[in-house]
Amino acid sequence: MALTGLQIQKLLPKTNCKECGSNTCLAFAMKLAAKKADLSECPYASDEAKQVLGAASEPPVKLIELGPEQALKLGAETVLYRHEKTFVHQTALAININDTDSEEKIEQTLKDISSYVLERVGEFIRLDMVSITNKGSDTAAFVAIARKAWETVKRPLILRSSNPQALIEAAIAVKGSRSVIASANPQTADLLCACAKENNHVLAVTASDMDELVQFTAKLKSDGFNDLVLELPSQSLSQRFQLRSLARRTALKDNYKPLGYPFISFIEGSQIDDDLFDTTFDAVTEICKYGGICVLPSFEPAQLAPLMTLRLNIYTDPQKPIQVEPKLYAIGEPKPDSPVFVTTNFSLTYFIVSGEIENSGISAWLLVPECEGMSVLTAWAAGKFSGATIGKFAKDIQLDSLVTTRKINIPGYVAQISGELEESMPGWSVMVGPQDASDLESYIKARILK
Ligand code: SF4
Repeated sequence: MALTGLQIQKLLPKTNCKECGSNTCLAFAMKLAAKKADLSECPYASDEAKQVLGAASEPPVKLIELGPEQALKLGAETVLYRHEKTFVHQTALAININDTDSEEKIEQTLKDISSYVLERVGEFIRLDMVSITNKGSDTAAFVAIARKAWETVKRPLILRSSNPQALIEAAIAVKGSRSVIASANPQTADLLCACAKENNHVLAVTASDMDELVQFTAKLKSDGFNDLVLELPSQSLSQRFQLRSLARRTALKDNYKPLGYPFISFIEGSQIDDDLFDTTFDAVTEICKYGGICVLPSFEPAQLAPLMTLRLNIYTDPQKPIQVEPKLYAIGEPKPDSPVFVTTNFSLTYFIVSGEIENSGISAWLLVPECEGMSVLTAWAAGKFSGATIGKFAKDIQLDSLVTTRKINIPGYVAQISGELEESMPGWSVMVGPQDASDLESYIKARILK
Protein backbone atom coordinates (compact mmCIF):
# COMPACT_ATOMS: atom_id res chain seq x y z
CA MET A 1 0.00 0.00 0.00
CA ALA A 2 1.35 3.47 -0.85
CA LEU A 3 2.32 5.51 2.22
CA THR A 4 0.71 8.87 2.97
CA GLY A 5 2.73 12.05 3.59
CA LEU A 6 2.07 11.85 7.36
CA GLN A 7 3.18 8.21 7.51
CA ILE A 8 6.37 9.12 5.64
CA GLN A 9 7.02 12.13 7.89
CA LYS A 10 7.14 9.82 10.93
CA LEU A 11 10.13 8.06 9.31
CA LEU A 12 12.07 11.31 8.67
CA PRO A 13 14.39 13.05 11.21
CA LYS A 14 11.87 15.93 11.78
CA THR A 15 14.66 18.51 12.23
CA ASN A 16 13.40 20.73 9.39
CA CYS A 17 17.01 21.46 8.36
CA LYS A 18 15.92 22.31 4.78
CA GLU A 19 18.89 20.55 3.15
CA CYS A 20 16.54 18.59 0.89
CA GLY A 21 15.24 21.85 -0.57
CA SER A 22 11.92 21.69 1.30
CA ASN A 23 11.17 24.00 4.22
CA THR A 24 10.05 21.20 6.52
CA CYS A 25 10.30 17.43 6.79
CA LEU A 26 6.53 17.32 6.34
CA ALA A 27 6.72 19.25 3.06
CA PHE A 28 9.42 16.83 1.88
CA ALA A 29 7.28 13.87 2.99
CA MET A 30 4.35 15.21 0.96
CA LYS A 31 6.61 15.42 -2.11
CA LEU A 32 7.79 11.85 -1.53
CA ALA A 33 4.18 10.65 -1.25
CA ALA A 34 3.39 12.36 -4.55
CA LYS A 35 6.56 10.78 -6.07
CA LYS A 36 7.93 14.27 -6.80
CA ALA A 37 11.09 13.79 -4.73
CA ASP A 38 13.53 11.02 -3.93
CA LEU A 39 14.54 9.96 -0.44
CA SER A 40 18.22 10.30 -1.41
CA GLU A 41 17.70 14.09 -1.30
CA CYS A 42 17.57 13.88 2.51
CA PRO A 43 21.12 13.19 3.74
CA TYR A 44 19.86 12.23 7.21
CA ALA A 45 17.34 9.52 6.27
CA SER A 46 17.75 6.50 8.56
CA ASP A 47 18.31 2.93 7.33
CA GLU A 48 14.80 2.10 8.53
CA ALA A 49 13.33 4.91 6.42
CA LYS A 50 15.32 3.73 3.39
CA GLN A 51 14.12 0.17 3.84
CA VAL A 52 10.44 1.03 4.37
CA LEU A 53 10.26 3.71 1.69
CA GLY A 54 12.34 1.67 -0.73
CA ALA A 55 9.84 -1.19 -0.52
CA ALA A 56 6.89 1.21 -0.77
CA SER A 57 8.36 2.93 -3.83
CA GLU A 58 8.89 -0.33 -5.77
CA PRO A 59 6.58 -0.39 -8.78
CA PRO A 60 3.52 -2.55 -8.09
CA VAL A 61 4.36 -4.67 -11.15
CA LYS A 62 7.94 -5.88 -10.98
CA LEU A 63 10.40 -4.82 -13.65
CA ILE A 64 11.65 -7.92 -15.50
CA GLU A 65 14.63 -7.59 -17.82
CA LEU A 66 15.42 -10.07 -20.59
CA GLY A 67 18.18 -10.59 -23.13
CA PRO A 68 21.95 -10.67 -22.70
CA GLU A 69 22.14 -6.91 -22.14
CA GLN A 70 18.82 -6.98 -20.27
CA ALA A 71 17.58 -4.62 -22.97
CA LEU A 72 14.07 -6.06 -23.24
CA LYS A 73 12.09 -4.74 -20.29
CA LEU A 74 8.66 -5.81 -19.06
CA GLY A 75 6.46 -4.61 -16.23
CA ALA A 76 7.17 -1.65 -13.89
CA GLU A 77 3.63 -0.52 -14.66
CA THR A 78 1.92 1.90 -12.31
CA VAL A 79 -1.51 2.61 -13.83
CA LEU A 80 -4.55 0.61 -14.87
CA TYR A 81 -5.52 2.92 -17.70
CA ARG A 82 -3.15 4.50 -20.17
CA HIS A 83 -4.72 7.98 -19.88
CA GLU A 84 -3.98 8.10 -16.13
CA LYS A 85 -0.29 8.51 -16.91
CA THR A 86 1.25 6.09 -19.40
CA PHE A 87 1.94 2.39 -19.88
CA VAL A 88 5.65 1.88 -19.51
CA HIS A 89 6.97 -1.29 -21.17
CA GLN A 90 5.20 -2.55 -24.23
CA THR A 91 4.00 -6.12 -24.73
CA ALA A 92 6.88 -8.20 -26.09
CA LEU A 93 5.85 -10.05 -29.26
CA ALA A 94 7.29 -13.52 -29.89
CA ILE A 95 6.86 -16.06 -32.69
CA ASN A 96 6.52 -19.72 -31.83
CA ILE A 97 8.46 -22.56 -33.42
CA ASN A 98 7.62 -26.18 -32.62
CA ASP A 99 10.47 -28.66 -32.38
CA THR A 100 8.36 -30.95 -34.58
CA ASP A 101 8.37 -28.45 -37.48
CA SER A 102 10.43 -29.41 -40.52
CA GLU A 103 14.02 -28.23 -40.73
CA GLU A 104 13.17 -25.99 -43.72
CA LYS A 105 10.28 -24.40 -41.88
CA ILE A 106 12.40 -23.69 -38.80
CA GLU A 107 15.18 -22.19 -40.95
CA GLN A 108 12.70 -20.00 -42.80
CA THR A 109 10.94 -18.82 -39.64
CA LEU A 110 14.22 -17.87 -37.98
CA LYS A 111 15.23 -16.00 -41.12
CA ASP A 112 11.88 -14.20 -41.22
CA ILE A 113 12.10 -13.23 -37.56
CA SER A 114 15.65 -11.89 -37.98
CA SER A 115 14.89 -9.79 -41.00
CA TYR A 116 11.41 -8.50 -40.11
CA VAL A 117 11.32 -4.76 -39.52
CA LEU A 118 8.41 -2.37 -39.72
CA GLU A 119 8.78 1.38 -39.99
CA ARG A 120 6.13 3.50 -38.32
CA VAL A 121 6.40 7.28 -37.73
CA GLY A 122 10.16 7.11 -38.05
CA GLU A 123 10.58 4.17 -35.65
CA PHE A 124 11.95 0.81 -36.74
CA ILE A 125 10.10 -1.96 -34.95
CA ARG A 126 11.32 -5.55 -34.73
CA LEU A 127 10.13 -8.77 -33.15
CA ASP A 128 11.28 -9.17 -29.55
CA MET A 129 11.54 -12.89 -28.84
CA VAL A 130 11.35 -16.42 -30.23
CA SER A 131 9.44 -19.19 -28.47
CA ILE A 132 10.58 -22.80 -28.87
CA THR A 133 7.92 -25.36 -27.93
CA ASN A 134 8.87 -28.92 -27.12
CA LYS A 135 6.14 -31.02 -28.72
CA GLY A 136 8.17 -34.06 -29.66
CA SER A 137 9.81 -36.66 -27.47
CA ASP A 138 13.38 -35.96 -28.59
CA THR A 139 14.96 -33.72 -25.95
CA ALA A 140 18.18 -33.39 -27.94
CA ALA A 141 16.25 -31.97 -30.92
CA PHE A 142 14.48 -29.42 -28.69
CA VAL A 143 17.79 -28.32 -27.18
CA ALA A 144 19.45 -28.10 -30.62
CA ILE A 145 16.64 -25.91 -31.99
CA ALA A 146 16.78 -23.64 -28.95
CA ARG A 147 20.53 -23.23 -29.41
CA LYS A 148 20.14 -22.58 -33.13
CA ALA A 149 17.41 -19.99 -32.51
CA TRP A 150 19.58 -18.16 -29.98
CA GLU A 151 22.65 -18.20 -32.24
CA THR A 152 20.64 -17.07 -35.29
CA VAL A 153 18.35 -14.44 -33.85
CA LYS A 154 20.30 -13.27 -30.79
CA ARG A 155 17.12 -12.31 -28.99
CA PRO A 156 15.79 -13.77 -25.73
CA LEU A 157 13.86 -17.03 -26.07
CA ILE A 158 10.91 -18.64 -24.41
CA LEU A 159 11.67 -22.29 -23.75
CA ARG A 160 8.39 -24.13 -23.41
CA SER A 161 8.00 -27.74 -22.37
CA SER A 162 6.11 -29.93 -19.93
CA ASN A 163 9.30 -31.94 -19.47
CA PRO A 164 11.46 -30.27 -16.77
CA GLN A 165 14.59 -32.14 -17.88
CA ALA A 166 14.22 -30.83 -21.46
CA LEU A 167 13.82 -27.30 -20.08
CA ILE A 168 16.93 -27.60 -17.92
CA GLU A 169 19.06 -28.84 -20.82
CA ALA A 170 17.78 -26.11 -23.15
CA ALA A 171 18.26 -23.44 -20.45
CA ILE A 172 21.90 -24.50 -20.04
CA ALA A 173 22.41 -24.54 -23.83
CA VAL A 174 21.26 -20.90 -24.16
CA LYS A 175 22.90 -19.60 -20.98
CA GLY A 176 23.72 -15.93 -21.47
CA SER A 177 20.51 -15.20 -23.37
CA ARG A 178 18.47 -14.38 -20.21
CA SER A 179 15.40 -16.11 -21.58
CA VAL A 180 12.12 -17.32 -20.08
CA ILE A 181 11.68 -20.92 -18.91
CA ALA A 182 8.01 -21.87 -19.30
CA SER A 183 6.35 -22.88 -17.20
CA ALA A 184 7.02 -24.08 -13.68
CA ASN A 185 4.14 -25.37 -11.57
CA PRO A 186 4.27 -26.15 -7.83
CA GLN A 187 5.45 -29.68 -8.62
CA THR A 188 8.38 -28.66 -10.86
CA ALA A 189 9.21 -25.41 -9.04
CA ASP A 190 12.29 -26.54 -7.09
CA LEU A 191 14.05 -27.99 -10.12
CA LEU A 192 13.23 -25.16 -12.52
CA CYS A 193 13.80 -22.37 -10.02
CA ALA A 194 17.31 -23.69 -9.32
CA CYS A 195 17.93 -23.93 -13.08
CA ALA A 196 16.69 -20.36 -13.70
CA LYS A 197 18.92 -19.04 -10.90
CA GLU A 198 22.03 -20.91 -12.02
CA ASN A 199 21.65 -19.94 -15.68
CA ASN A 200 20.36 -16.39 -15.15
CA HIS A 201 16.95 -16.93 -16.76
CA VAL A 202 13.46 -15.78 -15.83
CA LEU A 203 10.85 -18.32 -14.76
CA ALA A 204 7.26 -18.39 -16.03
CA VAL A 205 4.99 -19.83 -13.37
CA THR A 206 1.51 -21.28 -13.56
CA ALA A 207 -0.91 -23.20 -11.37
CA SER A 208 -4.30 -24.85 -11.66
CA ASP A 209 -6.14 -21.83 -10.21
CA MET A 210 -5.50 -18.30 -8.99
CA ASP A 211 -5.39 -19.25 -5.30
CA GLU A 212 -2.68 -21.79 -5.96
CA LEU A 213 -0.82 -19.32 -8.19
CA VAL A 214 -0.61 -16.56 -5.57
CA GLN A 215 0.56 -19.02 -2.90
CA PHE A 216 3.14 -20.27 -5.38
CA THR A 217 4.59 -16.85 -6.28
CA ALA A 218 4.56 -15.74 -2.63
CA LYS A 219 6.55 -18.84 -1.68
CA LEU A 220 9.06 -18.37 -4.50
CA LYS A 221 9.59 -14.77 -3.42
CA SER A 222 10.04 -15.69 0.23
CA ASP A 223 12.56 -18.34 -0.89
CA GLY A 224 14.52 -15.55 -2.56
CA PHE A 225 13.55 -15.93 -6.26
CA ASN A 226 11.65 -13.05 -7.77
CA ASP A 227 12.41 -13.06 -11.51
CA LEU A 228 8.99 -14.28 -12.56
CA VAL A 229 6.32 -13.89 -15.21
CA LEU A 230 2.82 -15.25 -14.70
CA GLU A 231 0.97 -17.64 -16.98
CA LEU A 232 -2.58 -17.27 -15.68
CA PRO A 233 -4.73 -20.37 -15.44
CA SER A 234 -7.36 -19.44 -18.02
CA GLN A 235 -9.09 -21.39 -20.74
CA SER A 236 -10.86 -18.79 -22.87
CA LEU A 237 -10.31 -15.25 -24.08
CA SER A 238 -13.05 -13.88 -21.81
CA GLN A 239 -11.66 -15.68 -18.79
CA ARG A 240 -8.17 -14.44 -19.57
CA PHE A 241 -9.47 -10.88 -19.95
CA GLN A 242 -11.26 -11.14 -16.61
CA LEU A 243 -8.41 -12.74 -14.65
CA ARG A 244 -5.85 -10.39 -16.14
CA SER A 245 -7.87 -7.30 -15.20
CA LEU A 246 -8.46 -8.66 -11.70
CA ALA A 247 -4.79 -9.51 -11.20
CA ARG A 248 -3.53 -6.15 -12.48
CA ARG A 249 -6.09 -4.22 -10.43
CA THR A 250 -5.15 -6.12 -7.27
CA ALA A 251 -1.44 -5.61 -7.89
CA LEU A 252 -1.86 -1.89 -8.49
CA LYS A 253 -4.60 -0.82 -6.14
CA ASP A 254 -3.71 -3.07 -3.20
CA ASN A 255 0.02 -3.34 -3.97
CA TYR A 256 -0.50 -7.11 -3.75
CA LYS A 257 2.95 -8.50 -4.52
CA PRO A 258 2.04 -12.14 -5.39
CA LEU A 259 0.29 -10.82 -8.53
CA GLY A 260 2.74 -8.00 -9.22
CA TYR A 261 4.51 -9.56 -12.20
CA PRO A 262 4.20 -9.26 -16.00
CA PHE A 263 2.02 -11.86 -17.73
CA ILE A 264 2.89 -14.29 -20.51
CA SER A 265 0.31 -15.78 -22.90
CA PHE A 266 0.62 -18.39 -25.61
CA ILE A 267 -1.87 -17.86 -28.41
CA GLU A 268 -2.69 -21.22 -29.86
CA GLY A 269 -3.55 -21.56 -33.53
CA SER A 270 -3.63 -24.27 -36.12
CA GLN A 271 -1.57 -22.03 -38.44
CA ILE A 272 -4.15 -21.93 -41.21
CA ASP A 273 -5.50 -18.76 -42.79
CA ASP A 274 -8.95 -19.10 -41.22
CA ASP A 275 -7.32 -18.81 -37.85
CA LEU A 276 -5.70 -15.47 -38.51
CA PHE A 277 -8.66 -13.41 -37.40
CA ASP A 278 -9.06 -15.30 -34.12
CA THR A 279 -5.39 -15.24 -33.22
CA THR A 280 -5.14 -11.55 -34.13
CA PHE A 281 -8.14 -10.85 -31.92
CA ASP A 282 -6.45 -12.67 -29.03
CA ALA A 283 -3.22 -10.74 -29.56
CA VAL A 284 -5.07 -7.41 -29.68
CA THR A 285 -6.53 -8.25 -26.27
CA GLU A 286 -3.05 -9.01 -24.97
CA ILE A 287 -1.65 -5.71 -26.19
CA CYS A 288 -4.57 -3.63 -24.92
CA LYS A 289 -5.02 -5.47 -21.64
CA TYR A 290 -1.71 -5.77 -19.84
CA GLY A 291 0.08 -8.45 -21.84
CA GLY A 292 3.75 -8.76 -20.86
CA ILE A 293 4.78 -11.37 -23.45
CA CYS A 294 2.44 -12.47 -26.22
CA VAL A 295 3.53 -15.56 -28.16
CA LEU A 296 2.01 -15.75 -31.65
CA PRO A 297 1.60 -19.19 -33.22
CA SER A 298 3.36 -18.39 -36.51
CA PHE A 299 5.10 -15.66 -38.51
CA GLU A 300 2.38 -13.75 -40.37
CA PRO A 301 3.41 -10.31 -41.69
CA ALA A 302 -0.26 -9.44 -42.38
CA GLN A 303 -0.93 -9.95 -38.68
CA LEU A 304 2.26 -8.37 -37.35
CA ALA A 305 1.91 -5.00 -39.08
CA PRO A 306 -1.42 -4.03 -37.45
CA LEU A 307 -0.43 -5.55 -34.11
CA MET A 308 2.81 -3.61 -33.95
CA THR A 309 1.10 -0.42 -35.01
CA LEU A 310 -1.54 -0.90 -32.32
CA ARG A 311 1.17 -1.59 -29.75
CA LEU A 312 2.99 1.60 -30.72
CA ASN A 313 -0.20 3.57 -30.17
CA ILE A 314 -1.08 1.99 -26.83
CA TYR A 315 2.41 2.33 -25.40
CA THR A 316 3.09 5.88 -26.56
CA ASP A 317 3.07 8.27 -23.63
CA PRO A 318 -0.17 10.27 -24.16
CA GLN A 319 1.47 13.29 -22.54
CA LYS A 320 4.47 13.25 -24.90
CA PRO A 321 3.57 13.41 -28.59
CA ILE A 322 5.93 11.60 -30.92
CA GLN A 323 8.05 14.23 -32.60
CA VAL A 324 10.42 14.52 -35.51
CA GLU A 325 13.53 16.63 -35.39
CA PRO A 326 12.89 20.27 -36.35
CA LYS A 327 14.85 20.92 -39.56
CA LEU A 328 14.52 21.34 -43.33
CA TYR A 329 13.62 17.95 -44.83
CA ALA A 330 14.31 16.92 -48.42
CA ILE A 331 11.37 15.04 -49.92
CA GLY A 332 12.60 13.13 -52.96
CA GLU A 333 15.61 14.84 -54.53
CA PRO A 334 14.83 18.55 -54.38
CA LYS A 335 16.93 21.19 -56.10
CA PRO A 336 17.46 24.73 -54.75
CA ASP A 337 14.48 25.98 -56.78
CA SER A 338 12.09 23.19 -55.67
CA PRO A 339 8.90 24.20 -53.82
CA VAL A 340 8.98 24.77 -50.05
CA PHE A 341 6.22 23.57 -47.71
CA VAL A 342 5.94 24.05 -43.97
CA THR A 343 4.30 21.93 -41.28
CA THR A 344 4.76 21.11 -37.58
CA ASN A 345 7.04 18.52 -35.97
CA PHE A 346 4.22 16.26 -34.69
CA SER A 347 5.33 12.91 -36.19
CA LEU A 348 1.93 11.96 -37.51
CA THR A 349 1.51 15.32 -39.23
CA TYR A 350 5.03 15.19 -40.65
CA PHE A 351 4.66 11.68 -42.07
CA ILE A 352 1.23 12.38 -43.57
CA VAL A 353 2.35 15.63 -45.22
CA SER A 354 5.67 14.23 -46.46
CA GLY A 355 3.87 11.12 -47.76
CA GLU A 356 1.34 13.19 -49.69
CA ILE A 357 4.07 15.35 -51.25
CA GLU A 358 5.93 12.17 -52.23
CA ASN A 359 2.75 10.69 -53.70
CA SER A 360 2.29 13.75 -55.89
CA GLY A 361 5.51 12.78 -57.69
CA ILE A 362 7.42 16.01 -57.08
CA SER A 363 10.54 16.67 -55.04
CA ALA A 364 10.24 19.45 -52.47
CA TRP A 365 11.59 20.97 -49.27
CA LEU A 366 9.60 20.56 -46.08
CA LEU A 367 10.34 23.10 -43.38
CA VAL A 368 9.56 21.68 -39.93
CA PRO A 369 10.01 24.15 -37.07
CA GLU A 370 10.00 23.22 -33.36
CA CYS A 371 6.32 23.00 -32.28
CA GLU A 372 6.73 20.69 -29.24
CA GLY A 373 5.15 17.84 -31.19
CA MET A 374 1.78 19.55 -31.63
CA SER A 375 -0.45 19.26 -34.68
CA VAL A 376 -1.01 22.30 -36.90
CA LEU A 377 -4.08 23.85 -35.26
CA THR A 378 -2.99 23.00 -31.70
CA ALA A 379 0.45 24.49 -32.31
CA TRP A 380 -1.09 27.60 -33.84
CA ALA A 381 -3.48 28.01 -30.87
CA ALA A 382 -0.53 27.60 -28.47
CA GLY A 383 1.47 30.27 -30.34
CA LYS A 384 4.08 27.71 -31.47
CA PHE A 385 3.23 27.83 -35.19
CA SER A 386 2.86 31.49 -36.01
CA GLY A 387 4.31 33.70 -38.74
CA ALA A 388 6.92 34.94 -36.28
CA THR A 389 8.04 31.47 -35.06
CA ILE A 390 8.24 30.02 -38.60
CA GLY A 391 10.09 33.11 -39.80
CA LYS A 392 12.57 32.90 -36.92
CA PHE A 393 13.18 29.19 -37.55
CA ALA A 394 13.75 29.83 -41.28
CA LYS A 395 16.27 32.52 -40.35
CA ASP A 396 18.02 30.31 -37.76
CA ILE A 397 18.63 27.52 -40.29
CA GLN A 398 19.52 30.08 -43.00
CA LEU A 399 16.78 28.90 -45.35
CA ASP A 400 17.49 31.82 -47.70
CA SER A 401 20.93 30.42 -48.50
CA LEU A 402 19.76 26.79 -48.83
CA VAL A 403 17.06 27.38 -51.45
CA THR A 404 16.50 29.86 -54.24
CA THR A 405 12.71 29.48 -54.13
CA ARG A 406 10.96 32.42 -52.53
CA LYS A 407 7.48 30.96 -52.17
CA ILE A 408 6.43 29.04 -49.08
CA ASN A 409 3.29 26.86 -48.93
CA ILE A 410 1.48 26.89 -45.57
CA PRO A 411 -1.36 24.61 -44.35
CA GLY A 412 -4.83 25.98 -45.17
CA TYR A 413 -5.89 25.77 -41.50
CA VAL A 414 -3.49 28.61 -40.64
CA ALA A 415 -4.21 30.90 -43.59
CA GLN A 416 -4.45 33.74 -41.04
CA ILE A 417 -0.67 33.69 -40.41
CA SER A 418 0.20 34.51 -44.02
CA GLY A 419 0.54 38.30 -43.45
CA GLU A 420 2.70 37.89 -40.36
CA LEU A 421 4.81 35.24 -42.11
CA GLU A 422 5.48 37.52 -45.09
CA GLU A 423 6.63 40.20 -42.65
CA SER A 424 8.92 37.71 -40.93
CA MET A 425 10.38 36.39 -44.18
CA PRO A 426 11.26 39.44 -46.28
CA GLY A 427 11.36 38.67 -50.00
CA TRP A 428 9.13 35.61 -49.66
CA SER A 429 5.52 35.25 -50.70
CA VAL A 430 3.15 32.94 -48.91
CA MET A 431 0.86 30.48 -50.71
CA VAL A 432 -2.03 29.02 -48.75
CA GLY A 433 -2.27 25.27 -49.30
CA PRO A 434 -5.20 22.95 -48.58
CA GLN A 435 -6.56 22.34 -45.10
CA ASP A 436 -6.22 18.58 -45.37
CA ALA A 437 -3.01 16.85 -46.41
CA SER A 438 -5.08 14.47 -48.54
CA ASP A 439 -5.75 17.40 -50.88
CA LEU A 440 -2.06 18.23 -51.31
CA GLU A 441 -1.68 16.20 -54.49
CA SER A 442 -4.44 18.07 -56.31
CA TYR A 443 -3.18 21.40 -54.87
CA ILE A 444 0.32 20.67 -56.19
CA LYS A 445 -1.06 19.80 -59.63
CA ALA A 446 -3.29 22.91 -59.77
CA ARG A 447 -1.03 25.54 -58.14
CA ILE A 448 2.57 24.36 -58.41
CA LEU A 449 2.84 22.27 -61.57
CA LYS A 450 0.42 24.37 -63.60
S1 SF4 B 1 16.87 17.16 4.63
FE1 SF4 B 1 15.81 15.56 5.75
S2 SF4 B 1 15.86 16.27 7.82
FE2 SF4 B 1 16.31 18.02 6.59
S3 SF4 B 1 14.30 18.98 6.19
FE3 SF4 B 1 14.67 17.62 4.52
S4 SF4 B 1 13.69 15.76 5.16
FE4 SF4 B 1 13.93 16.95 6.99
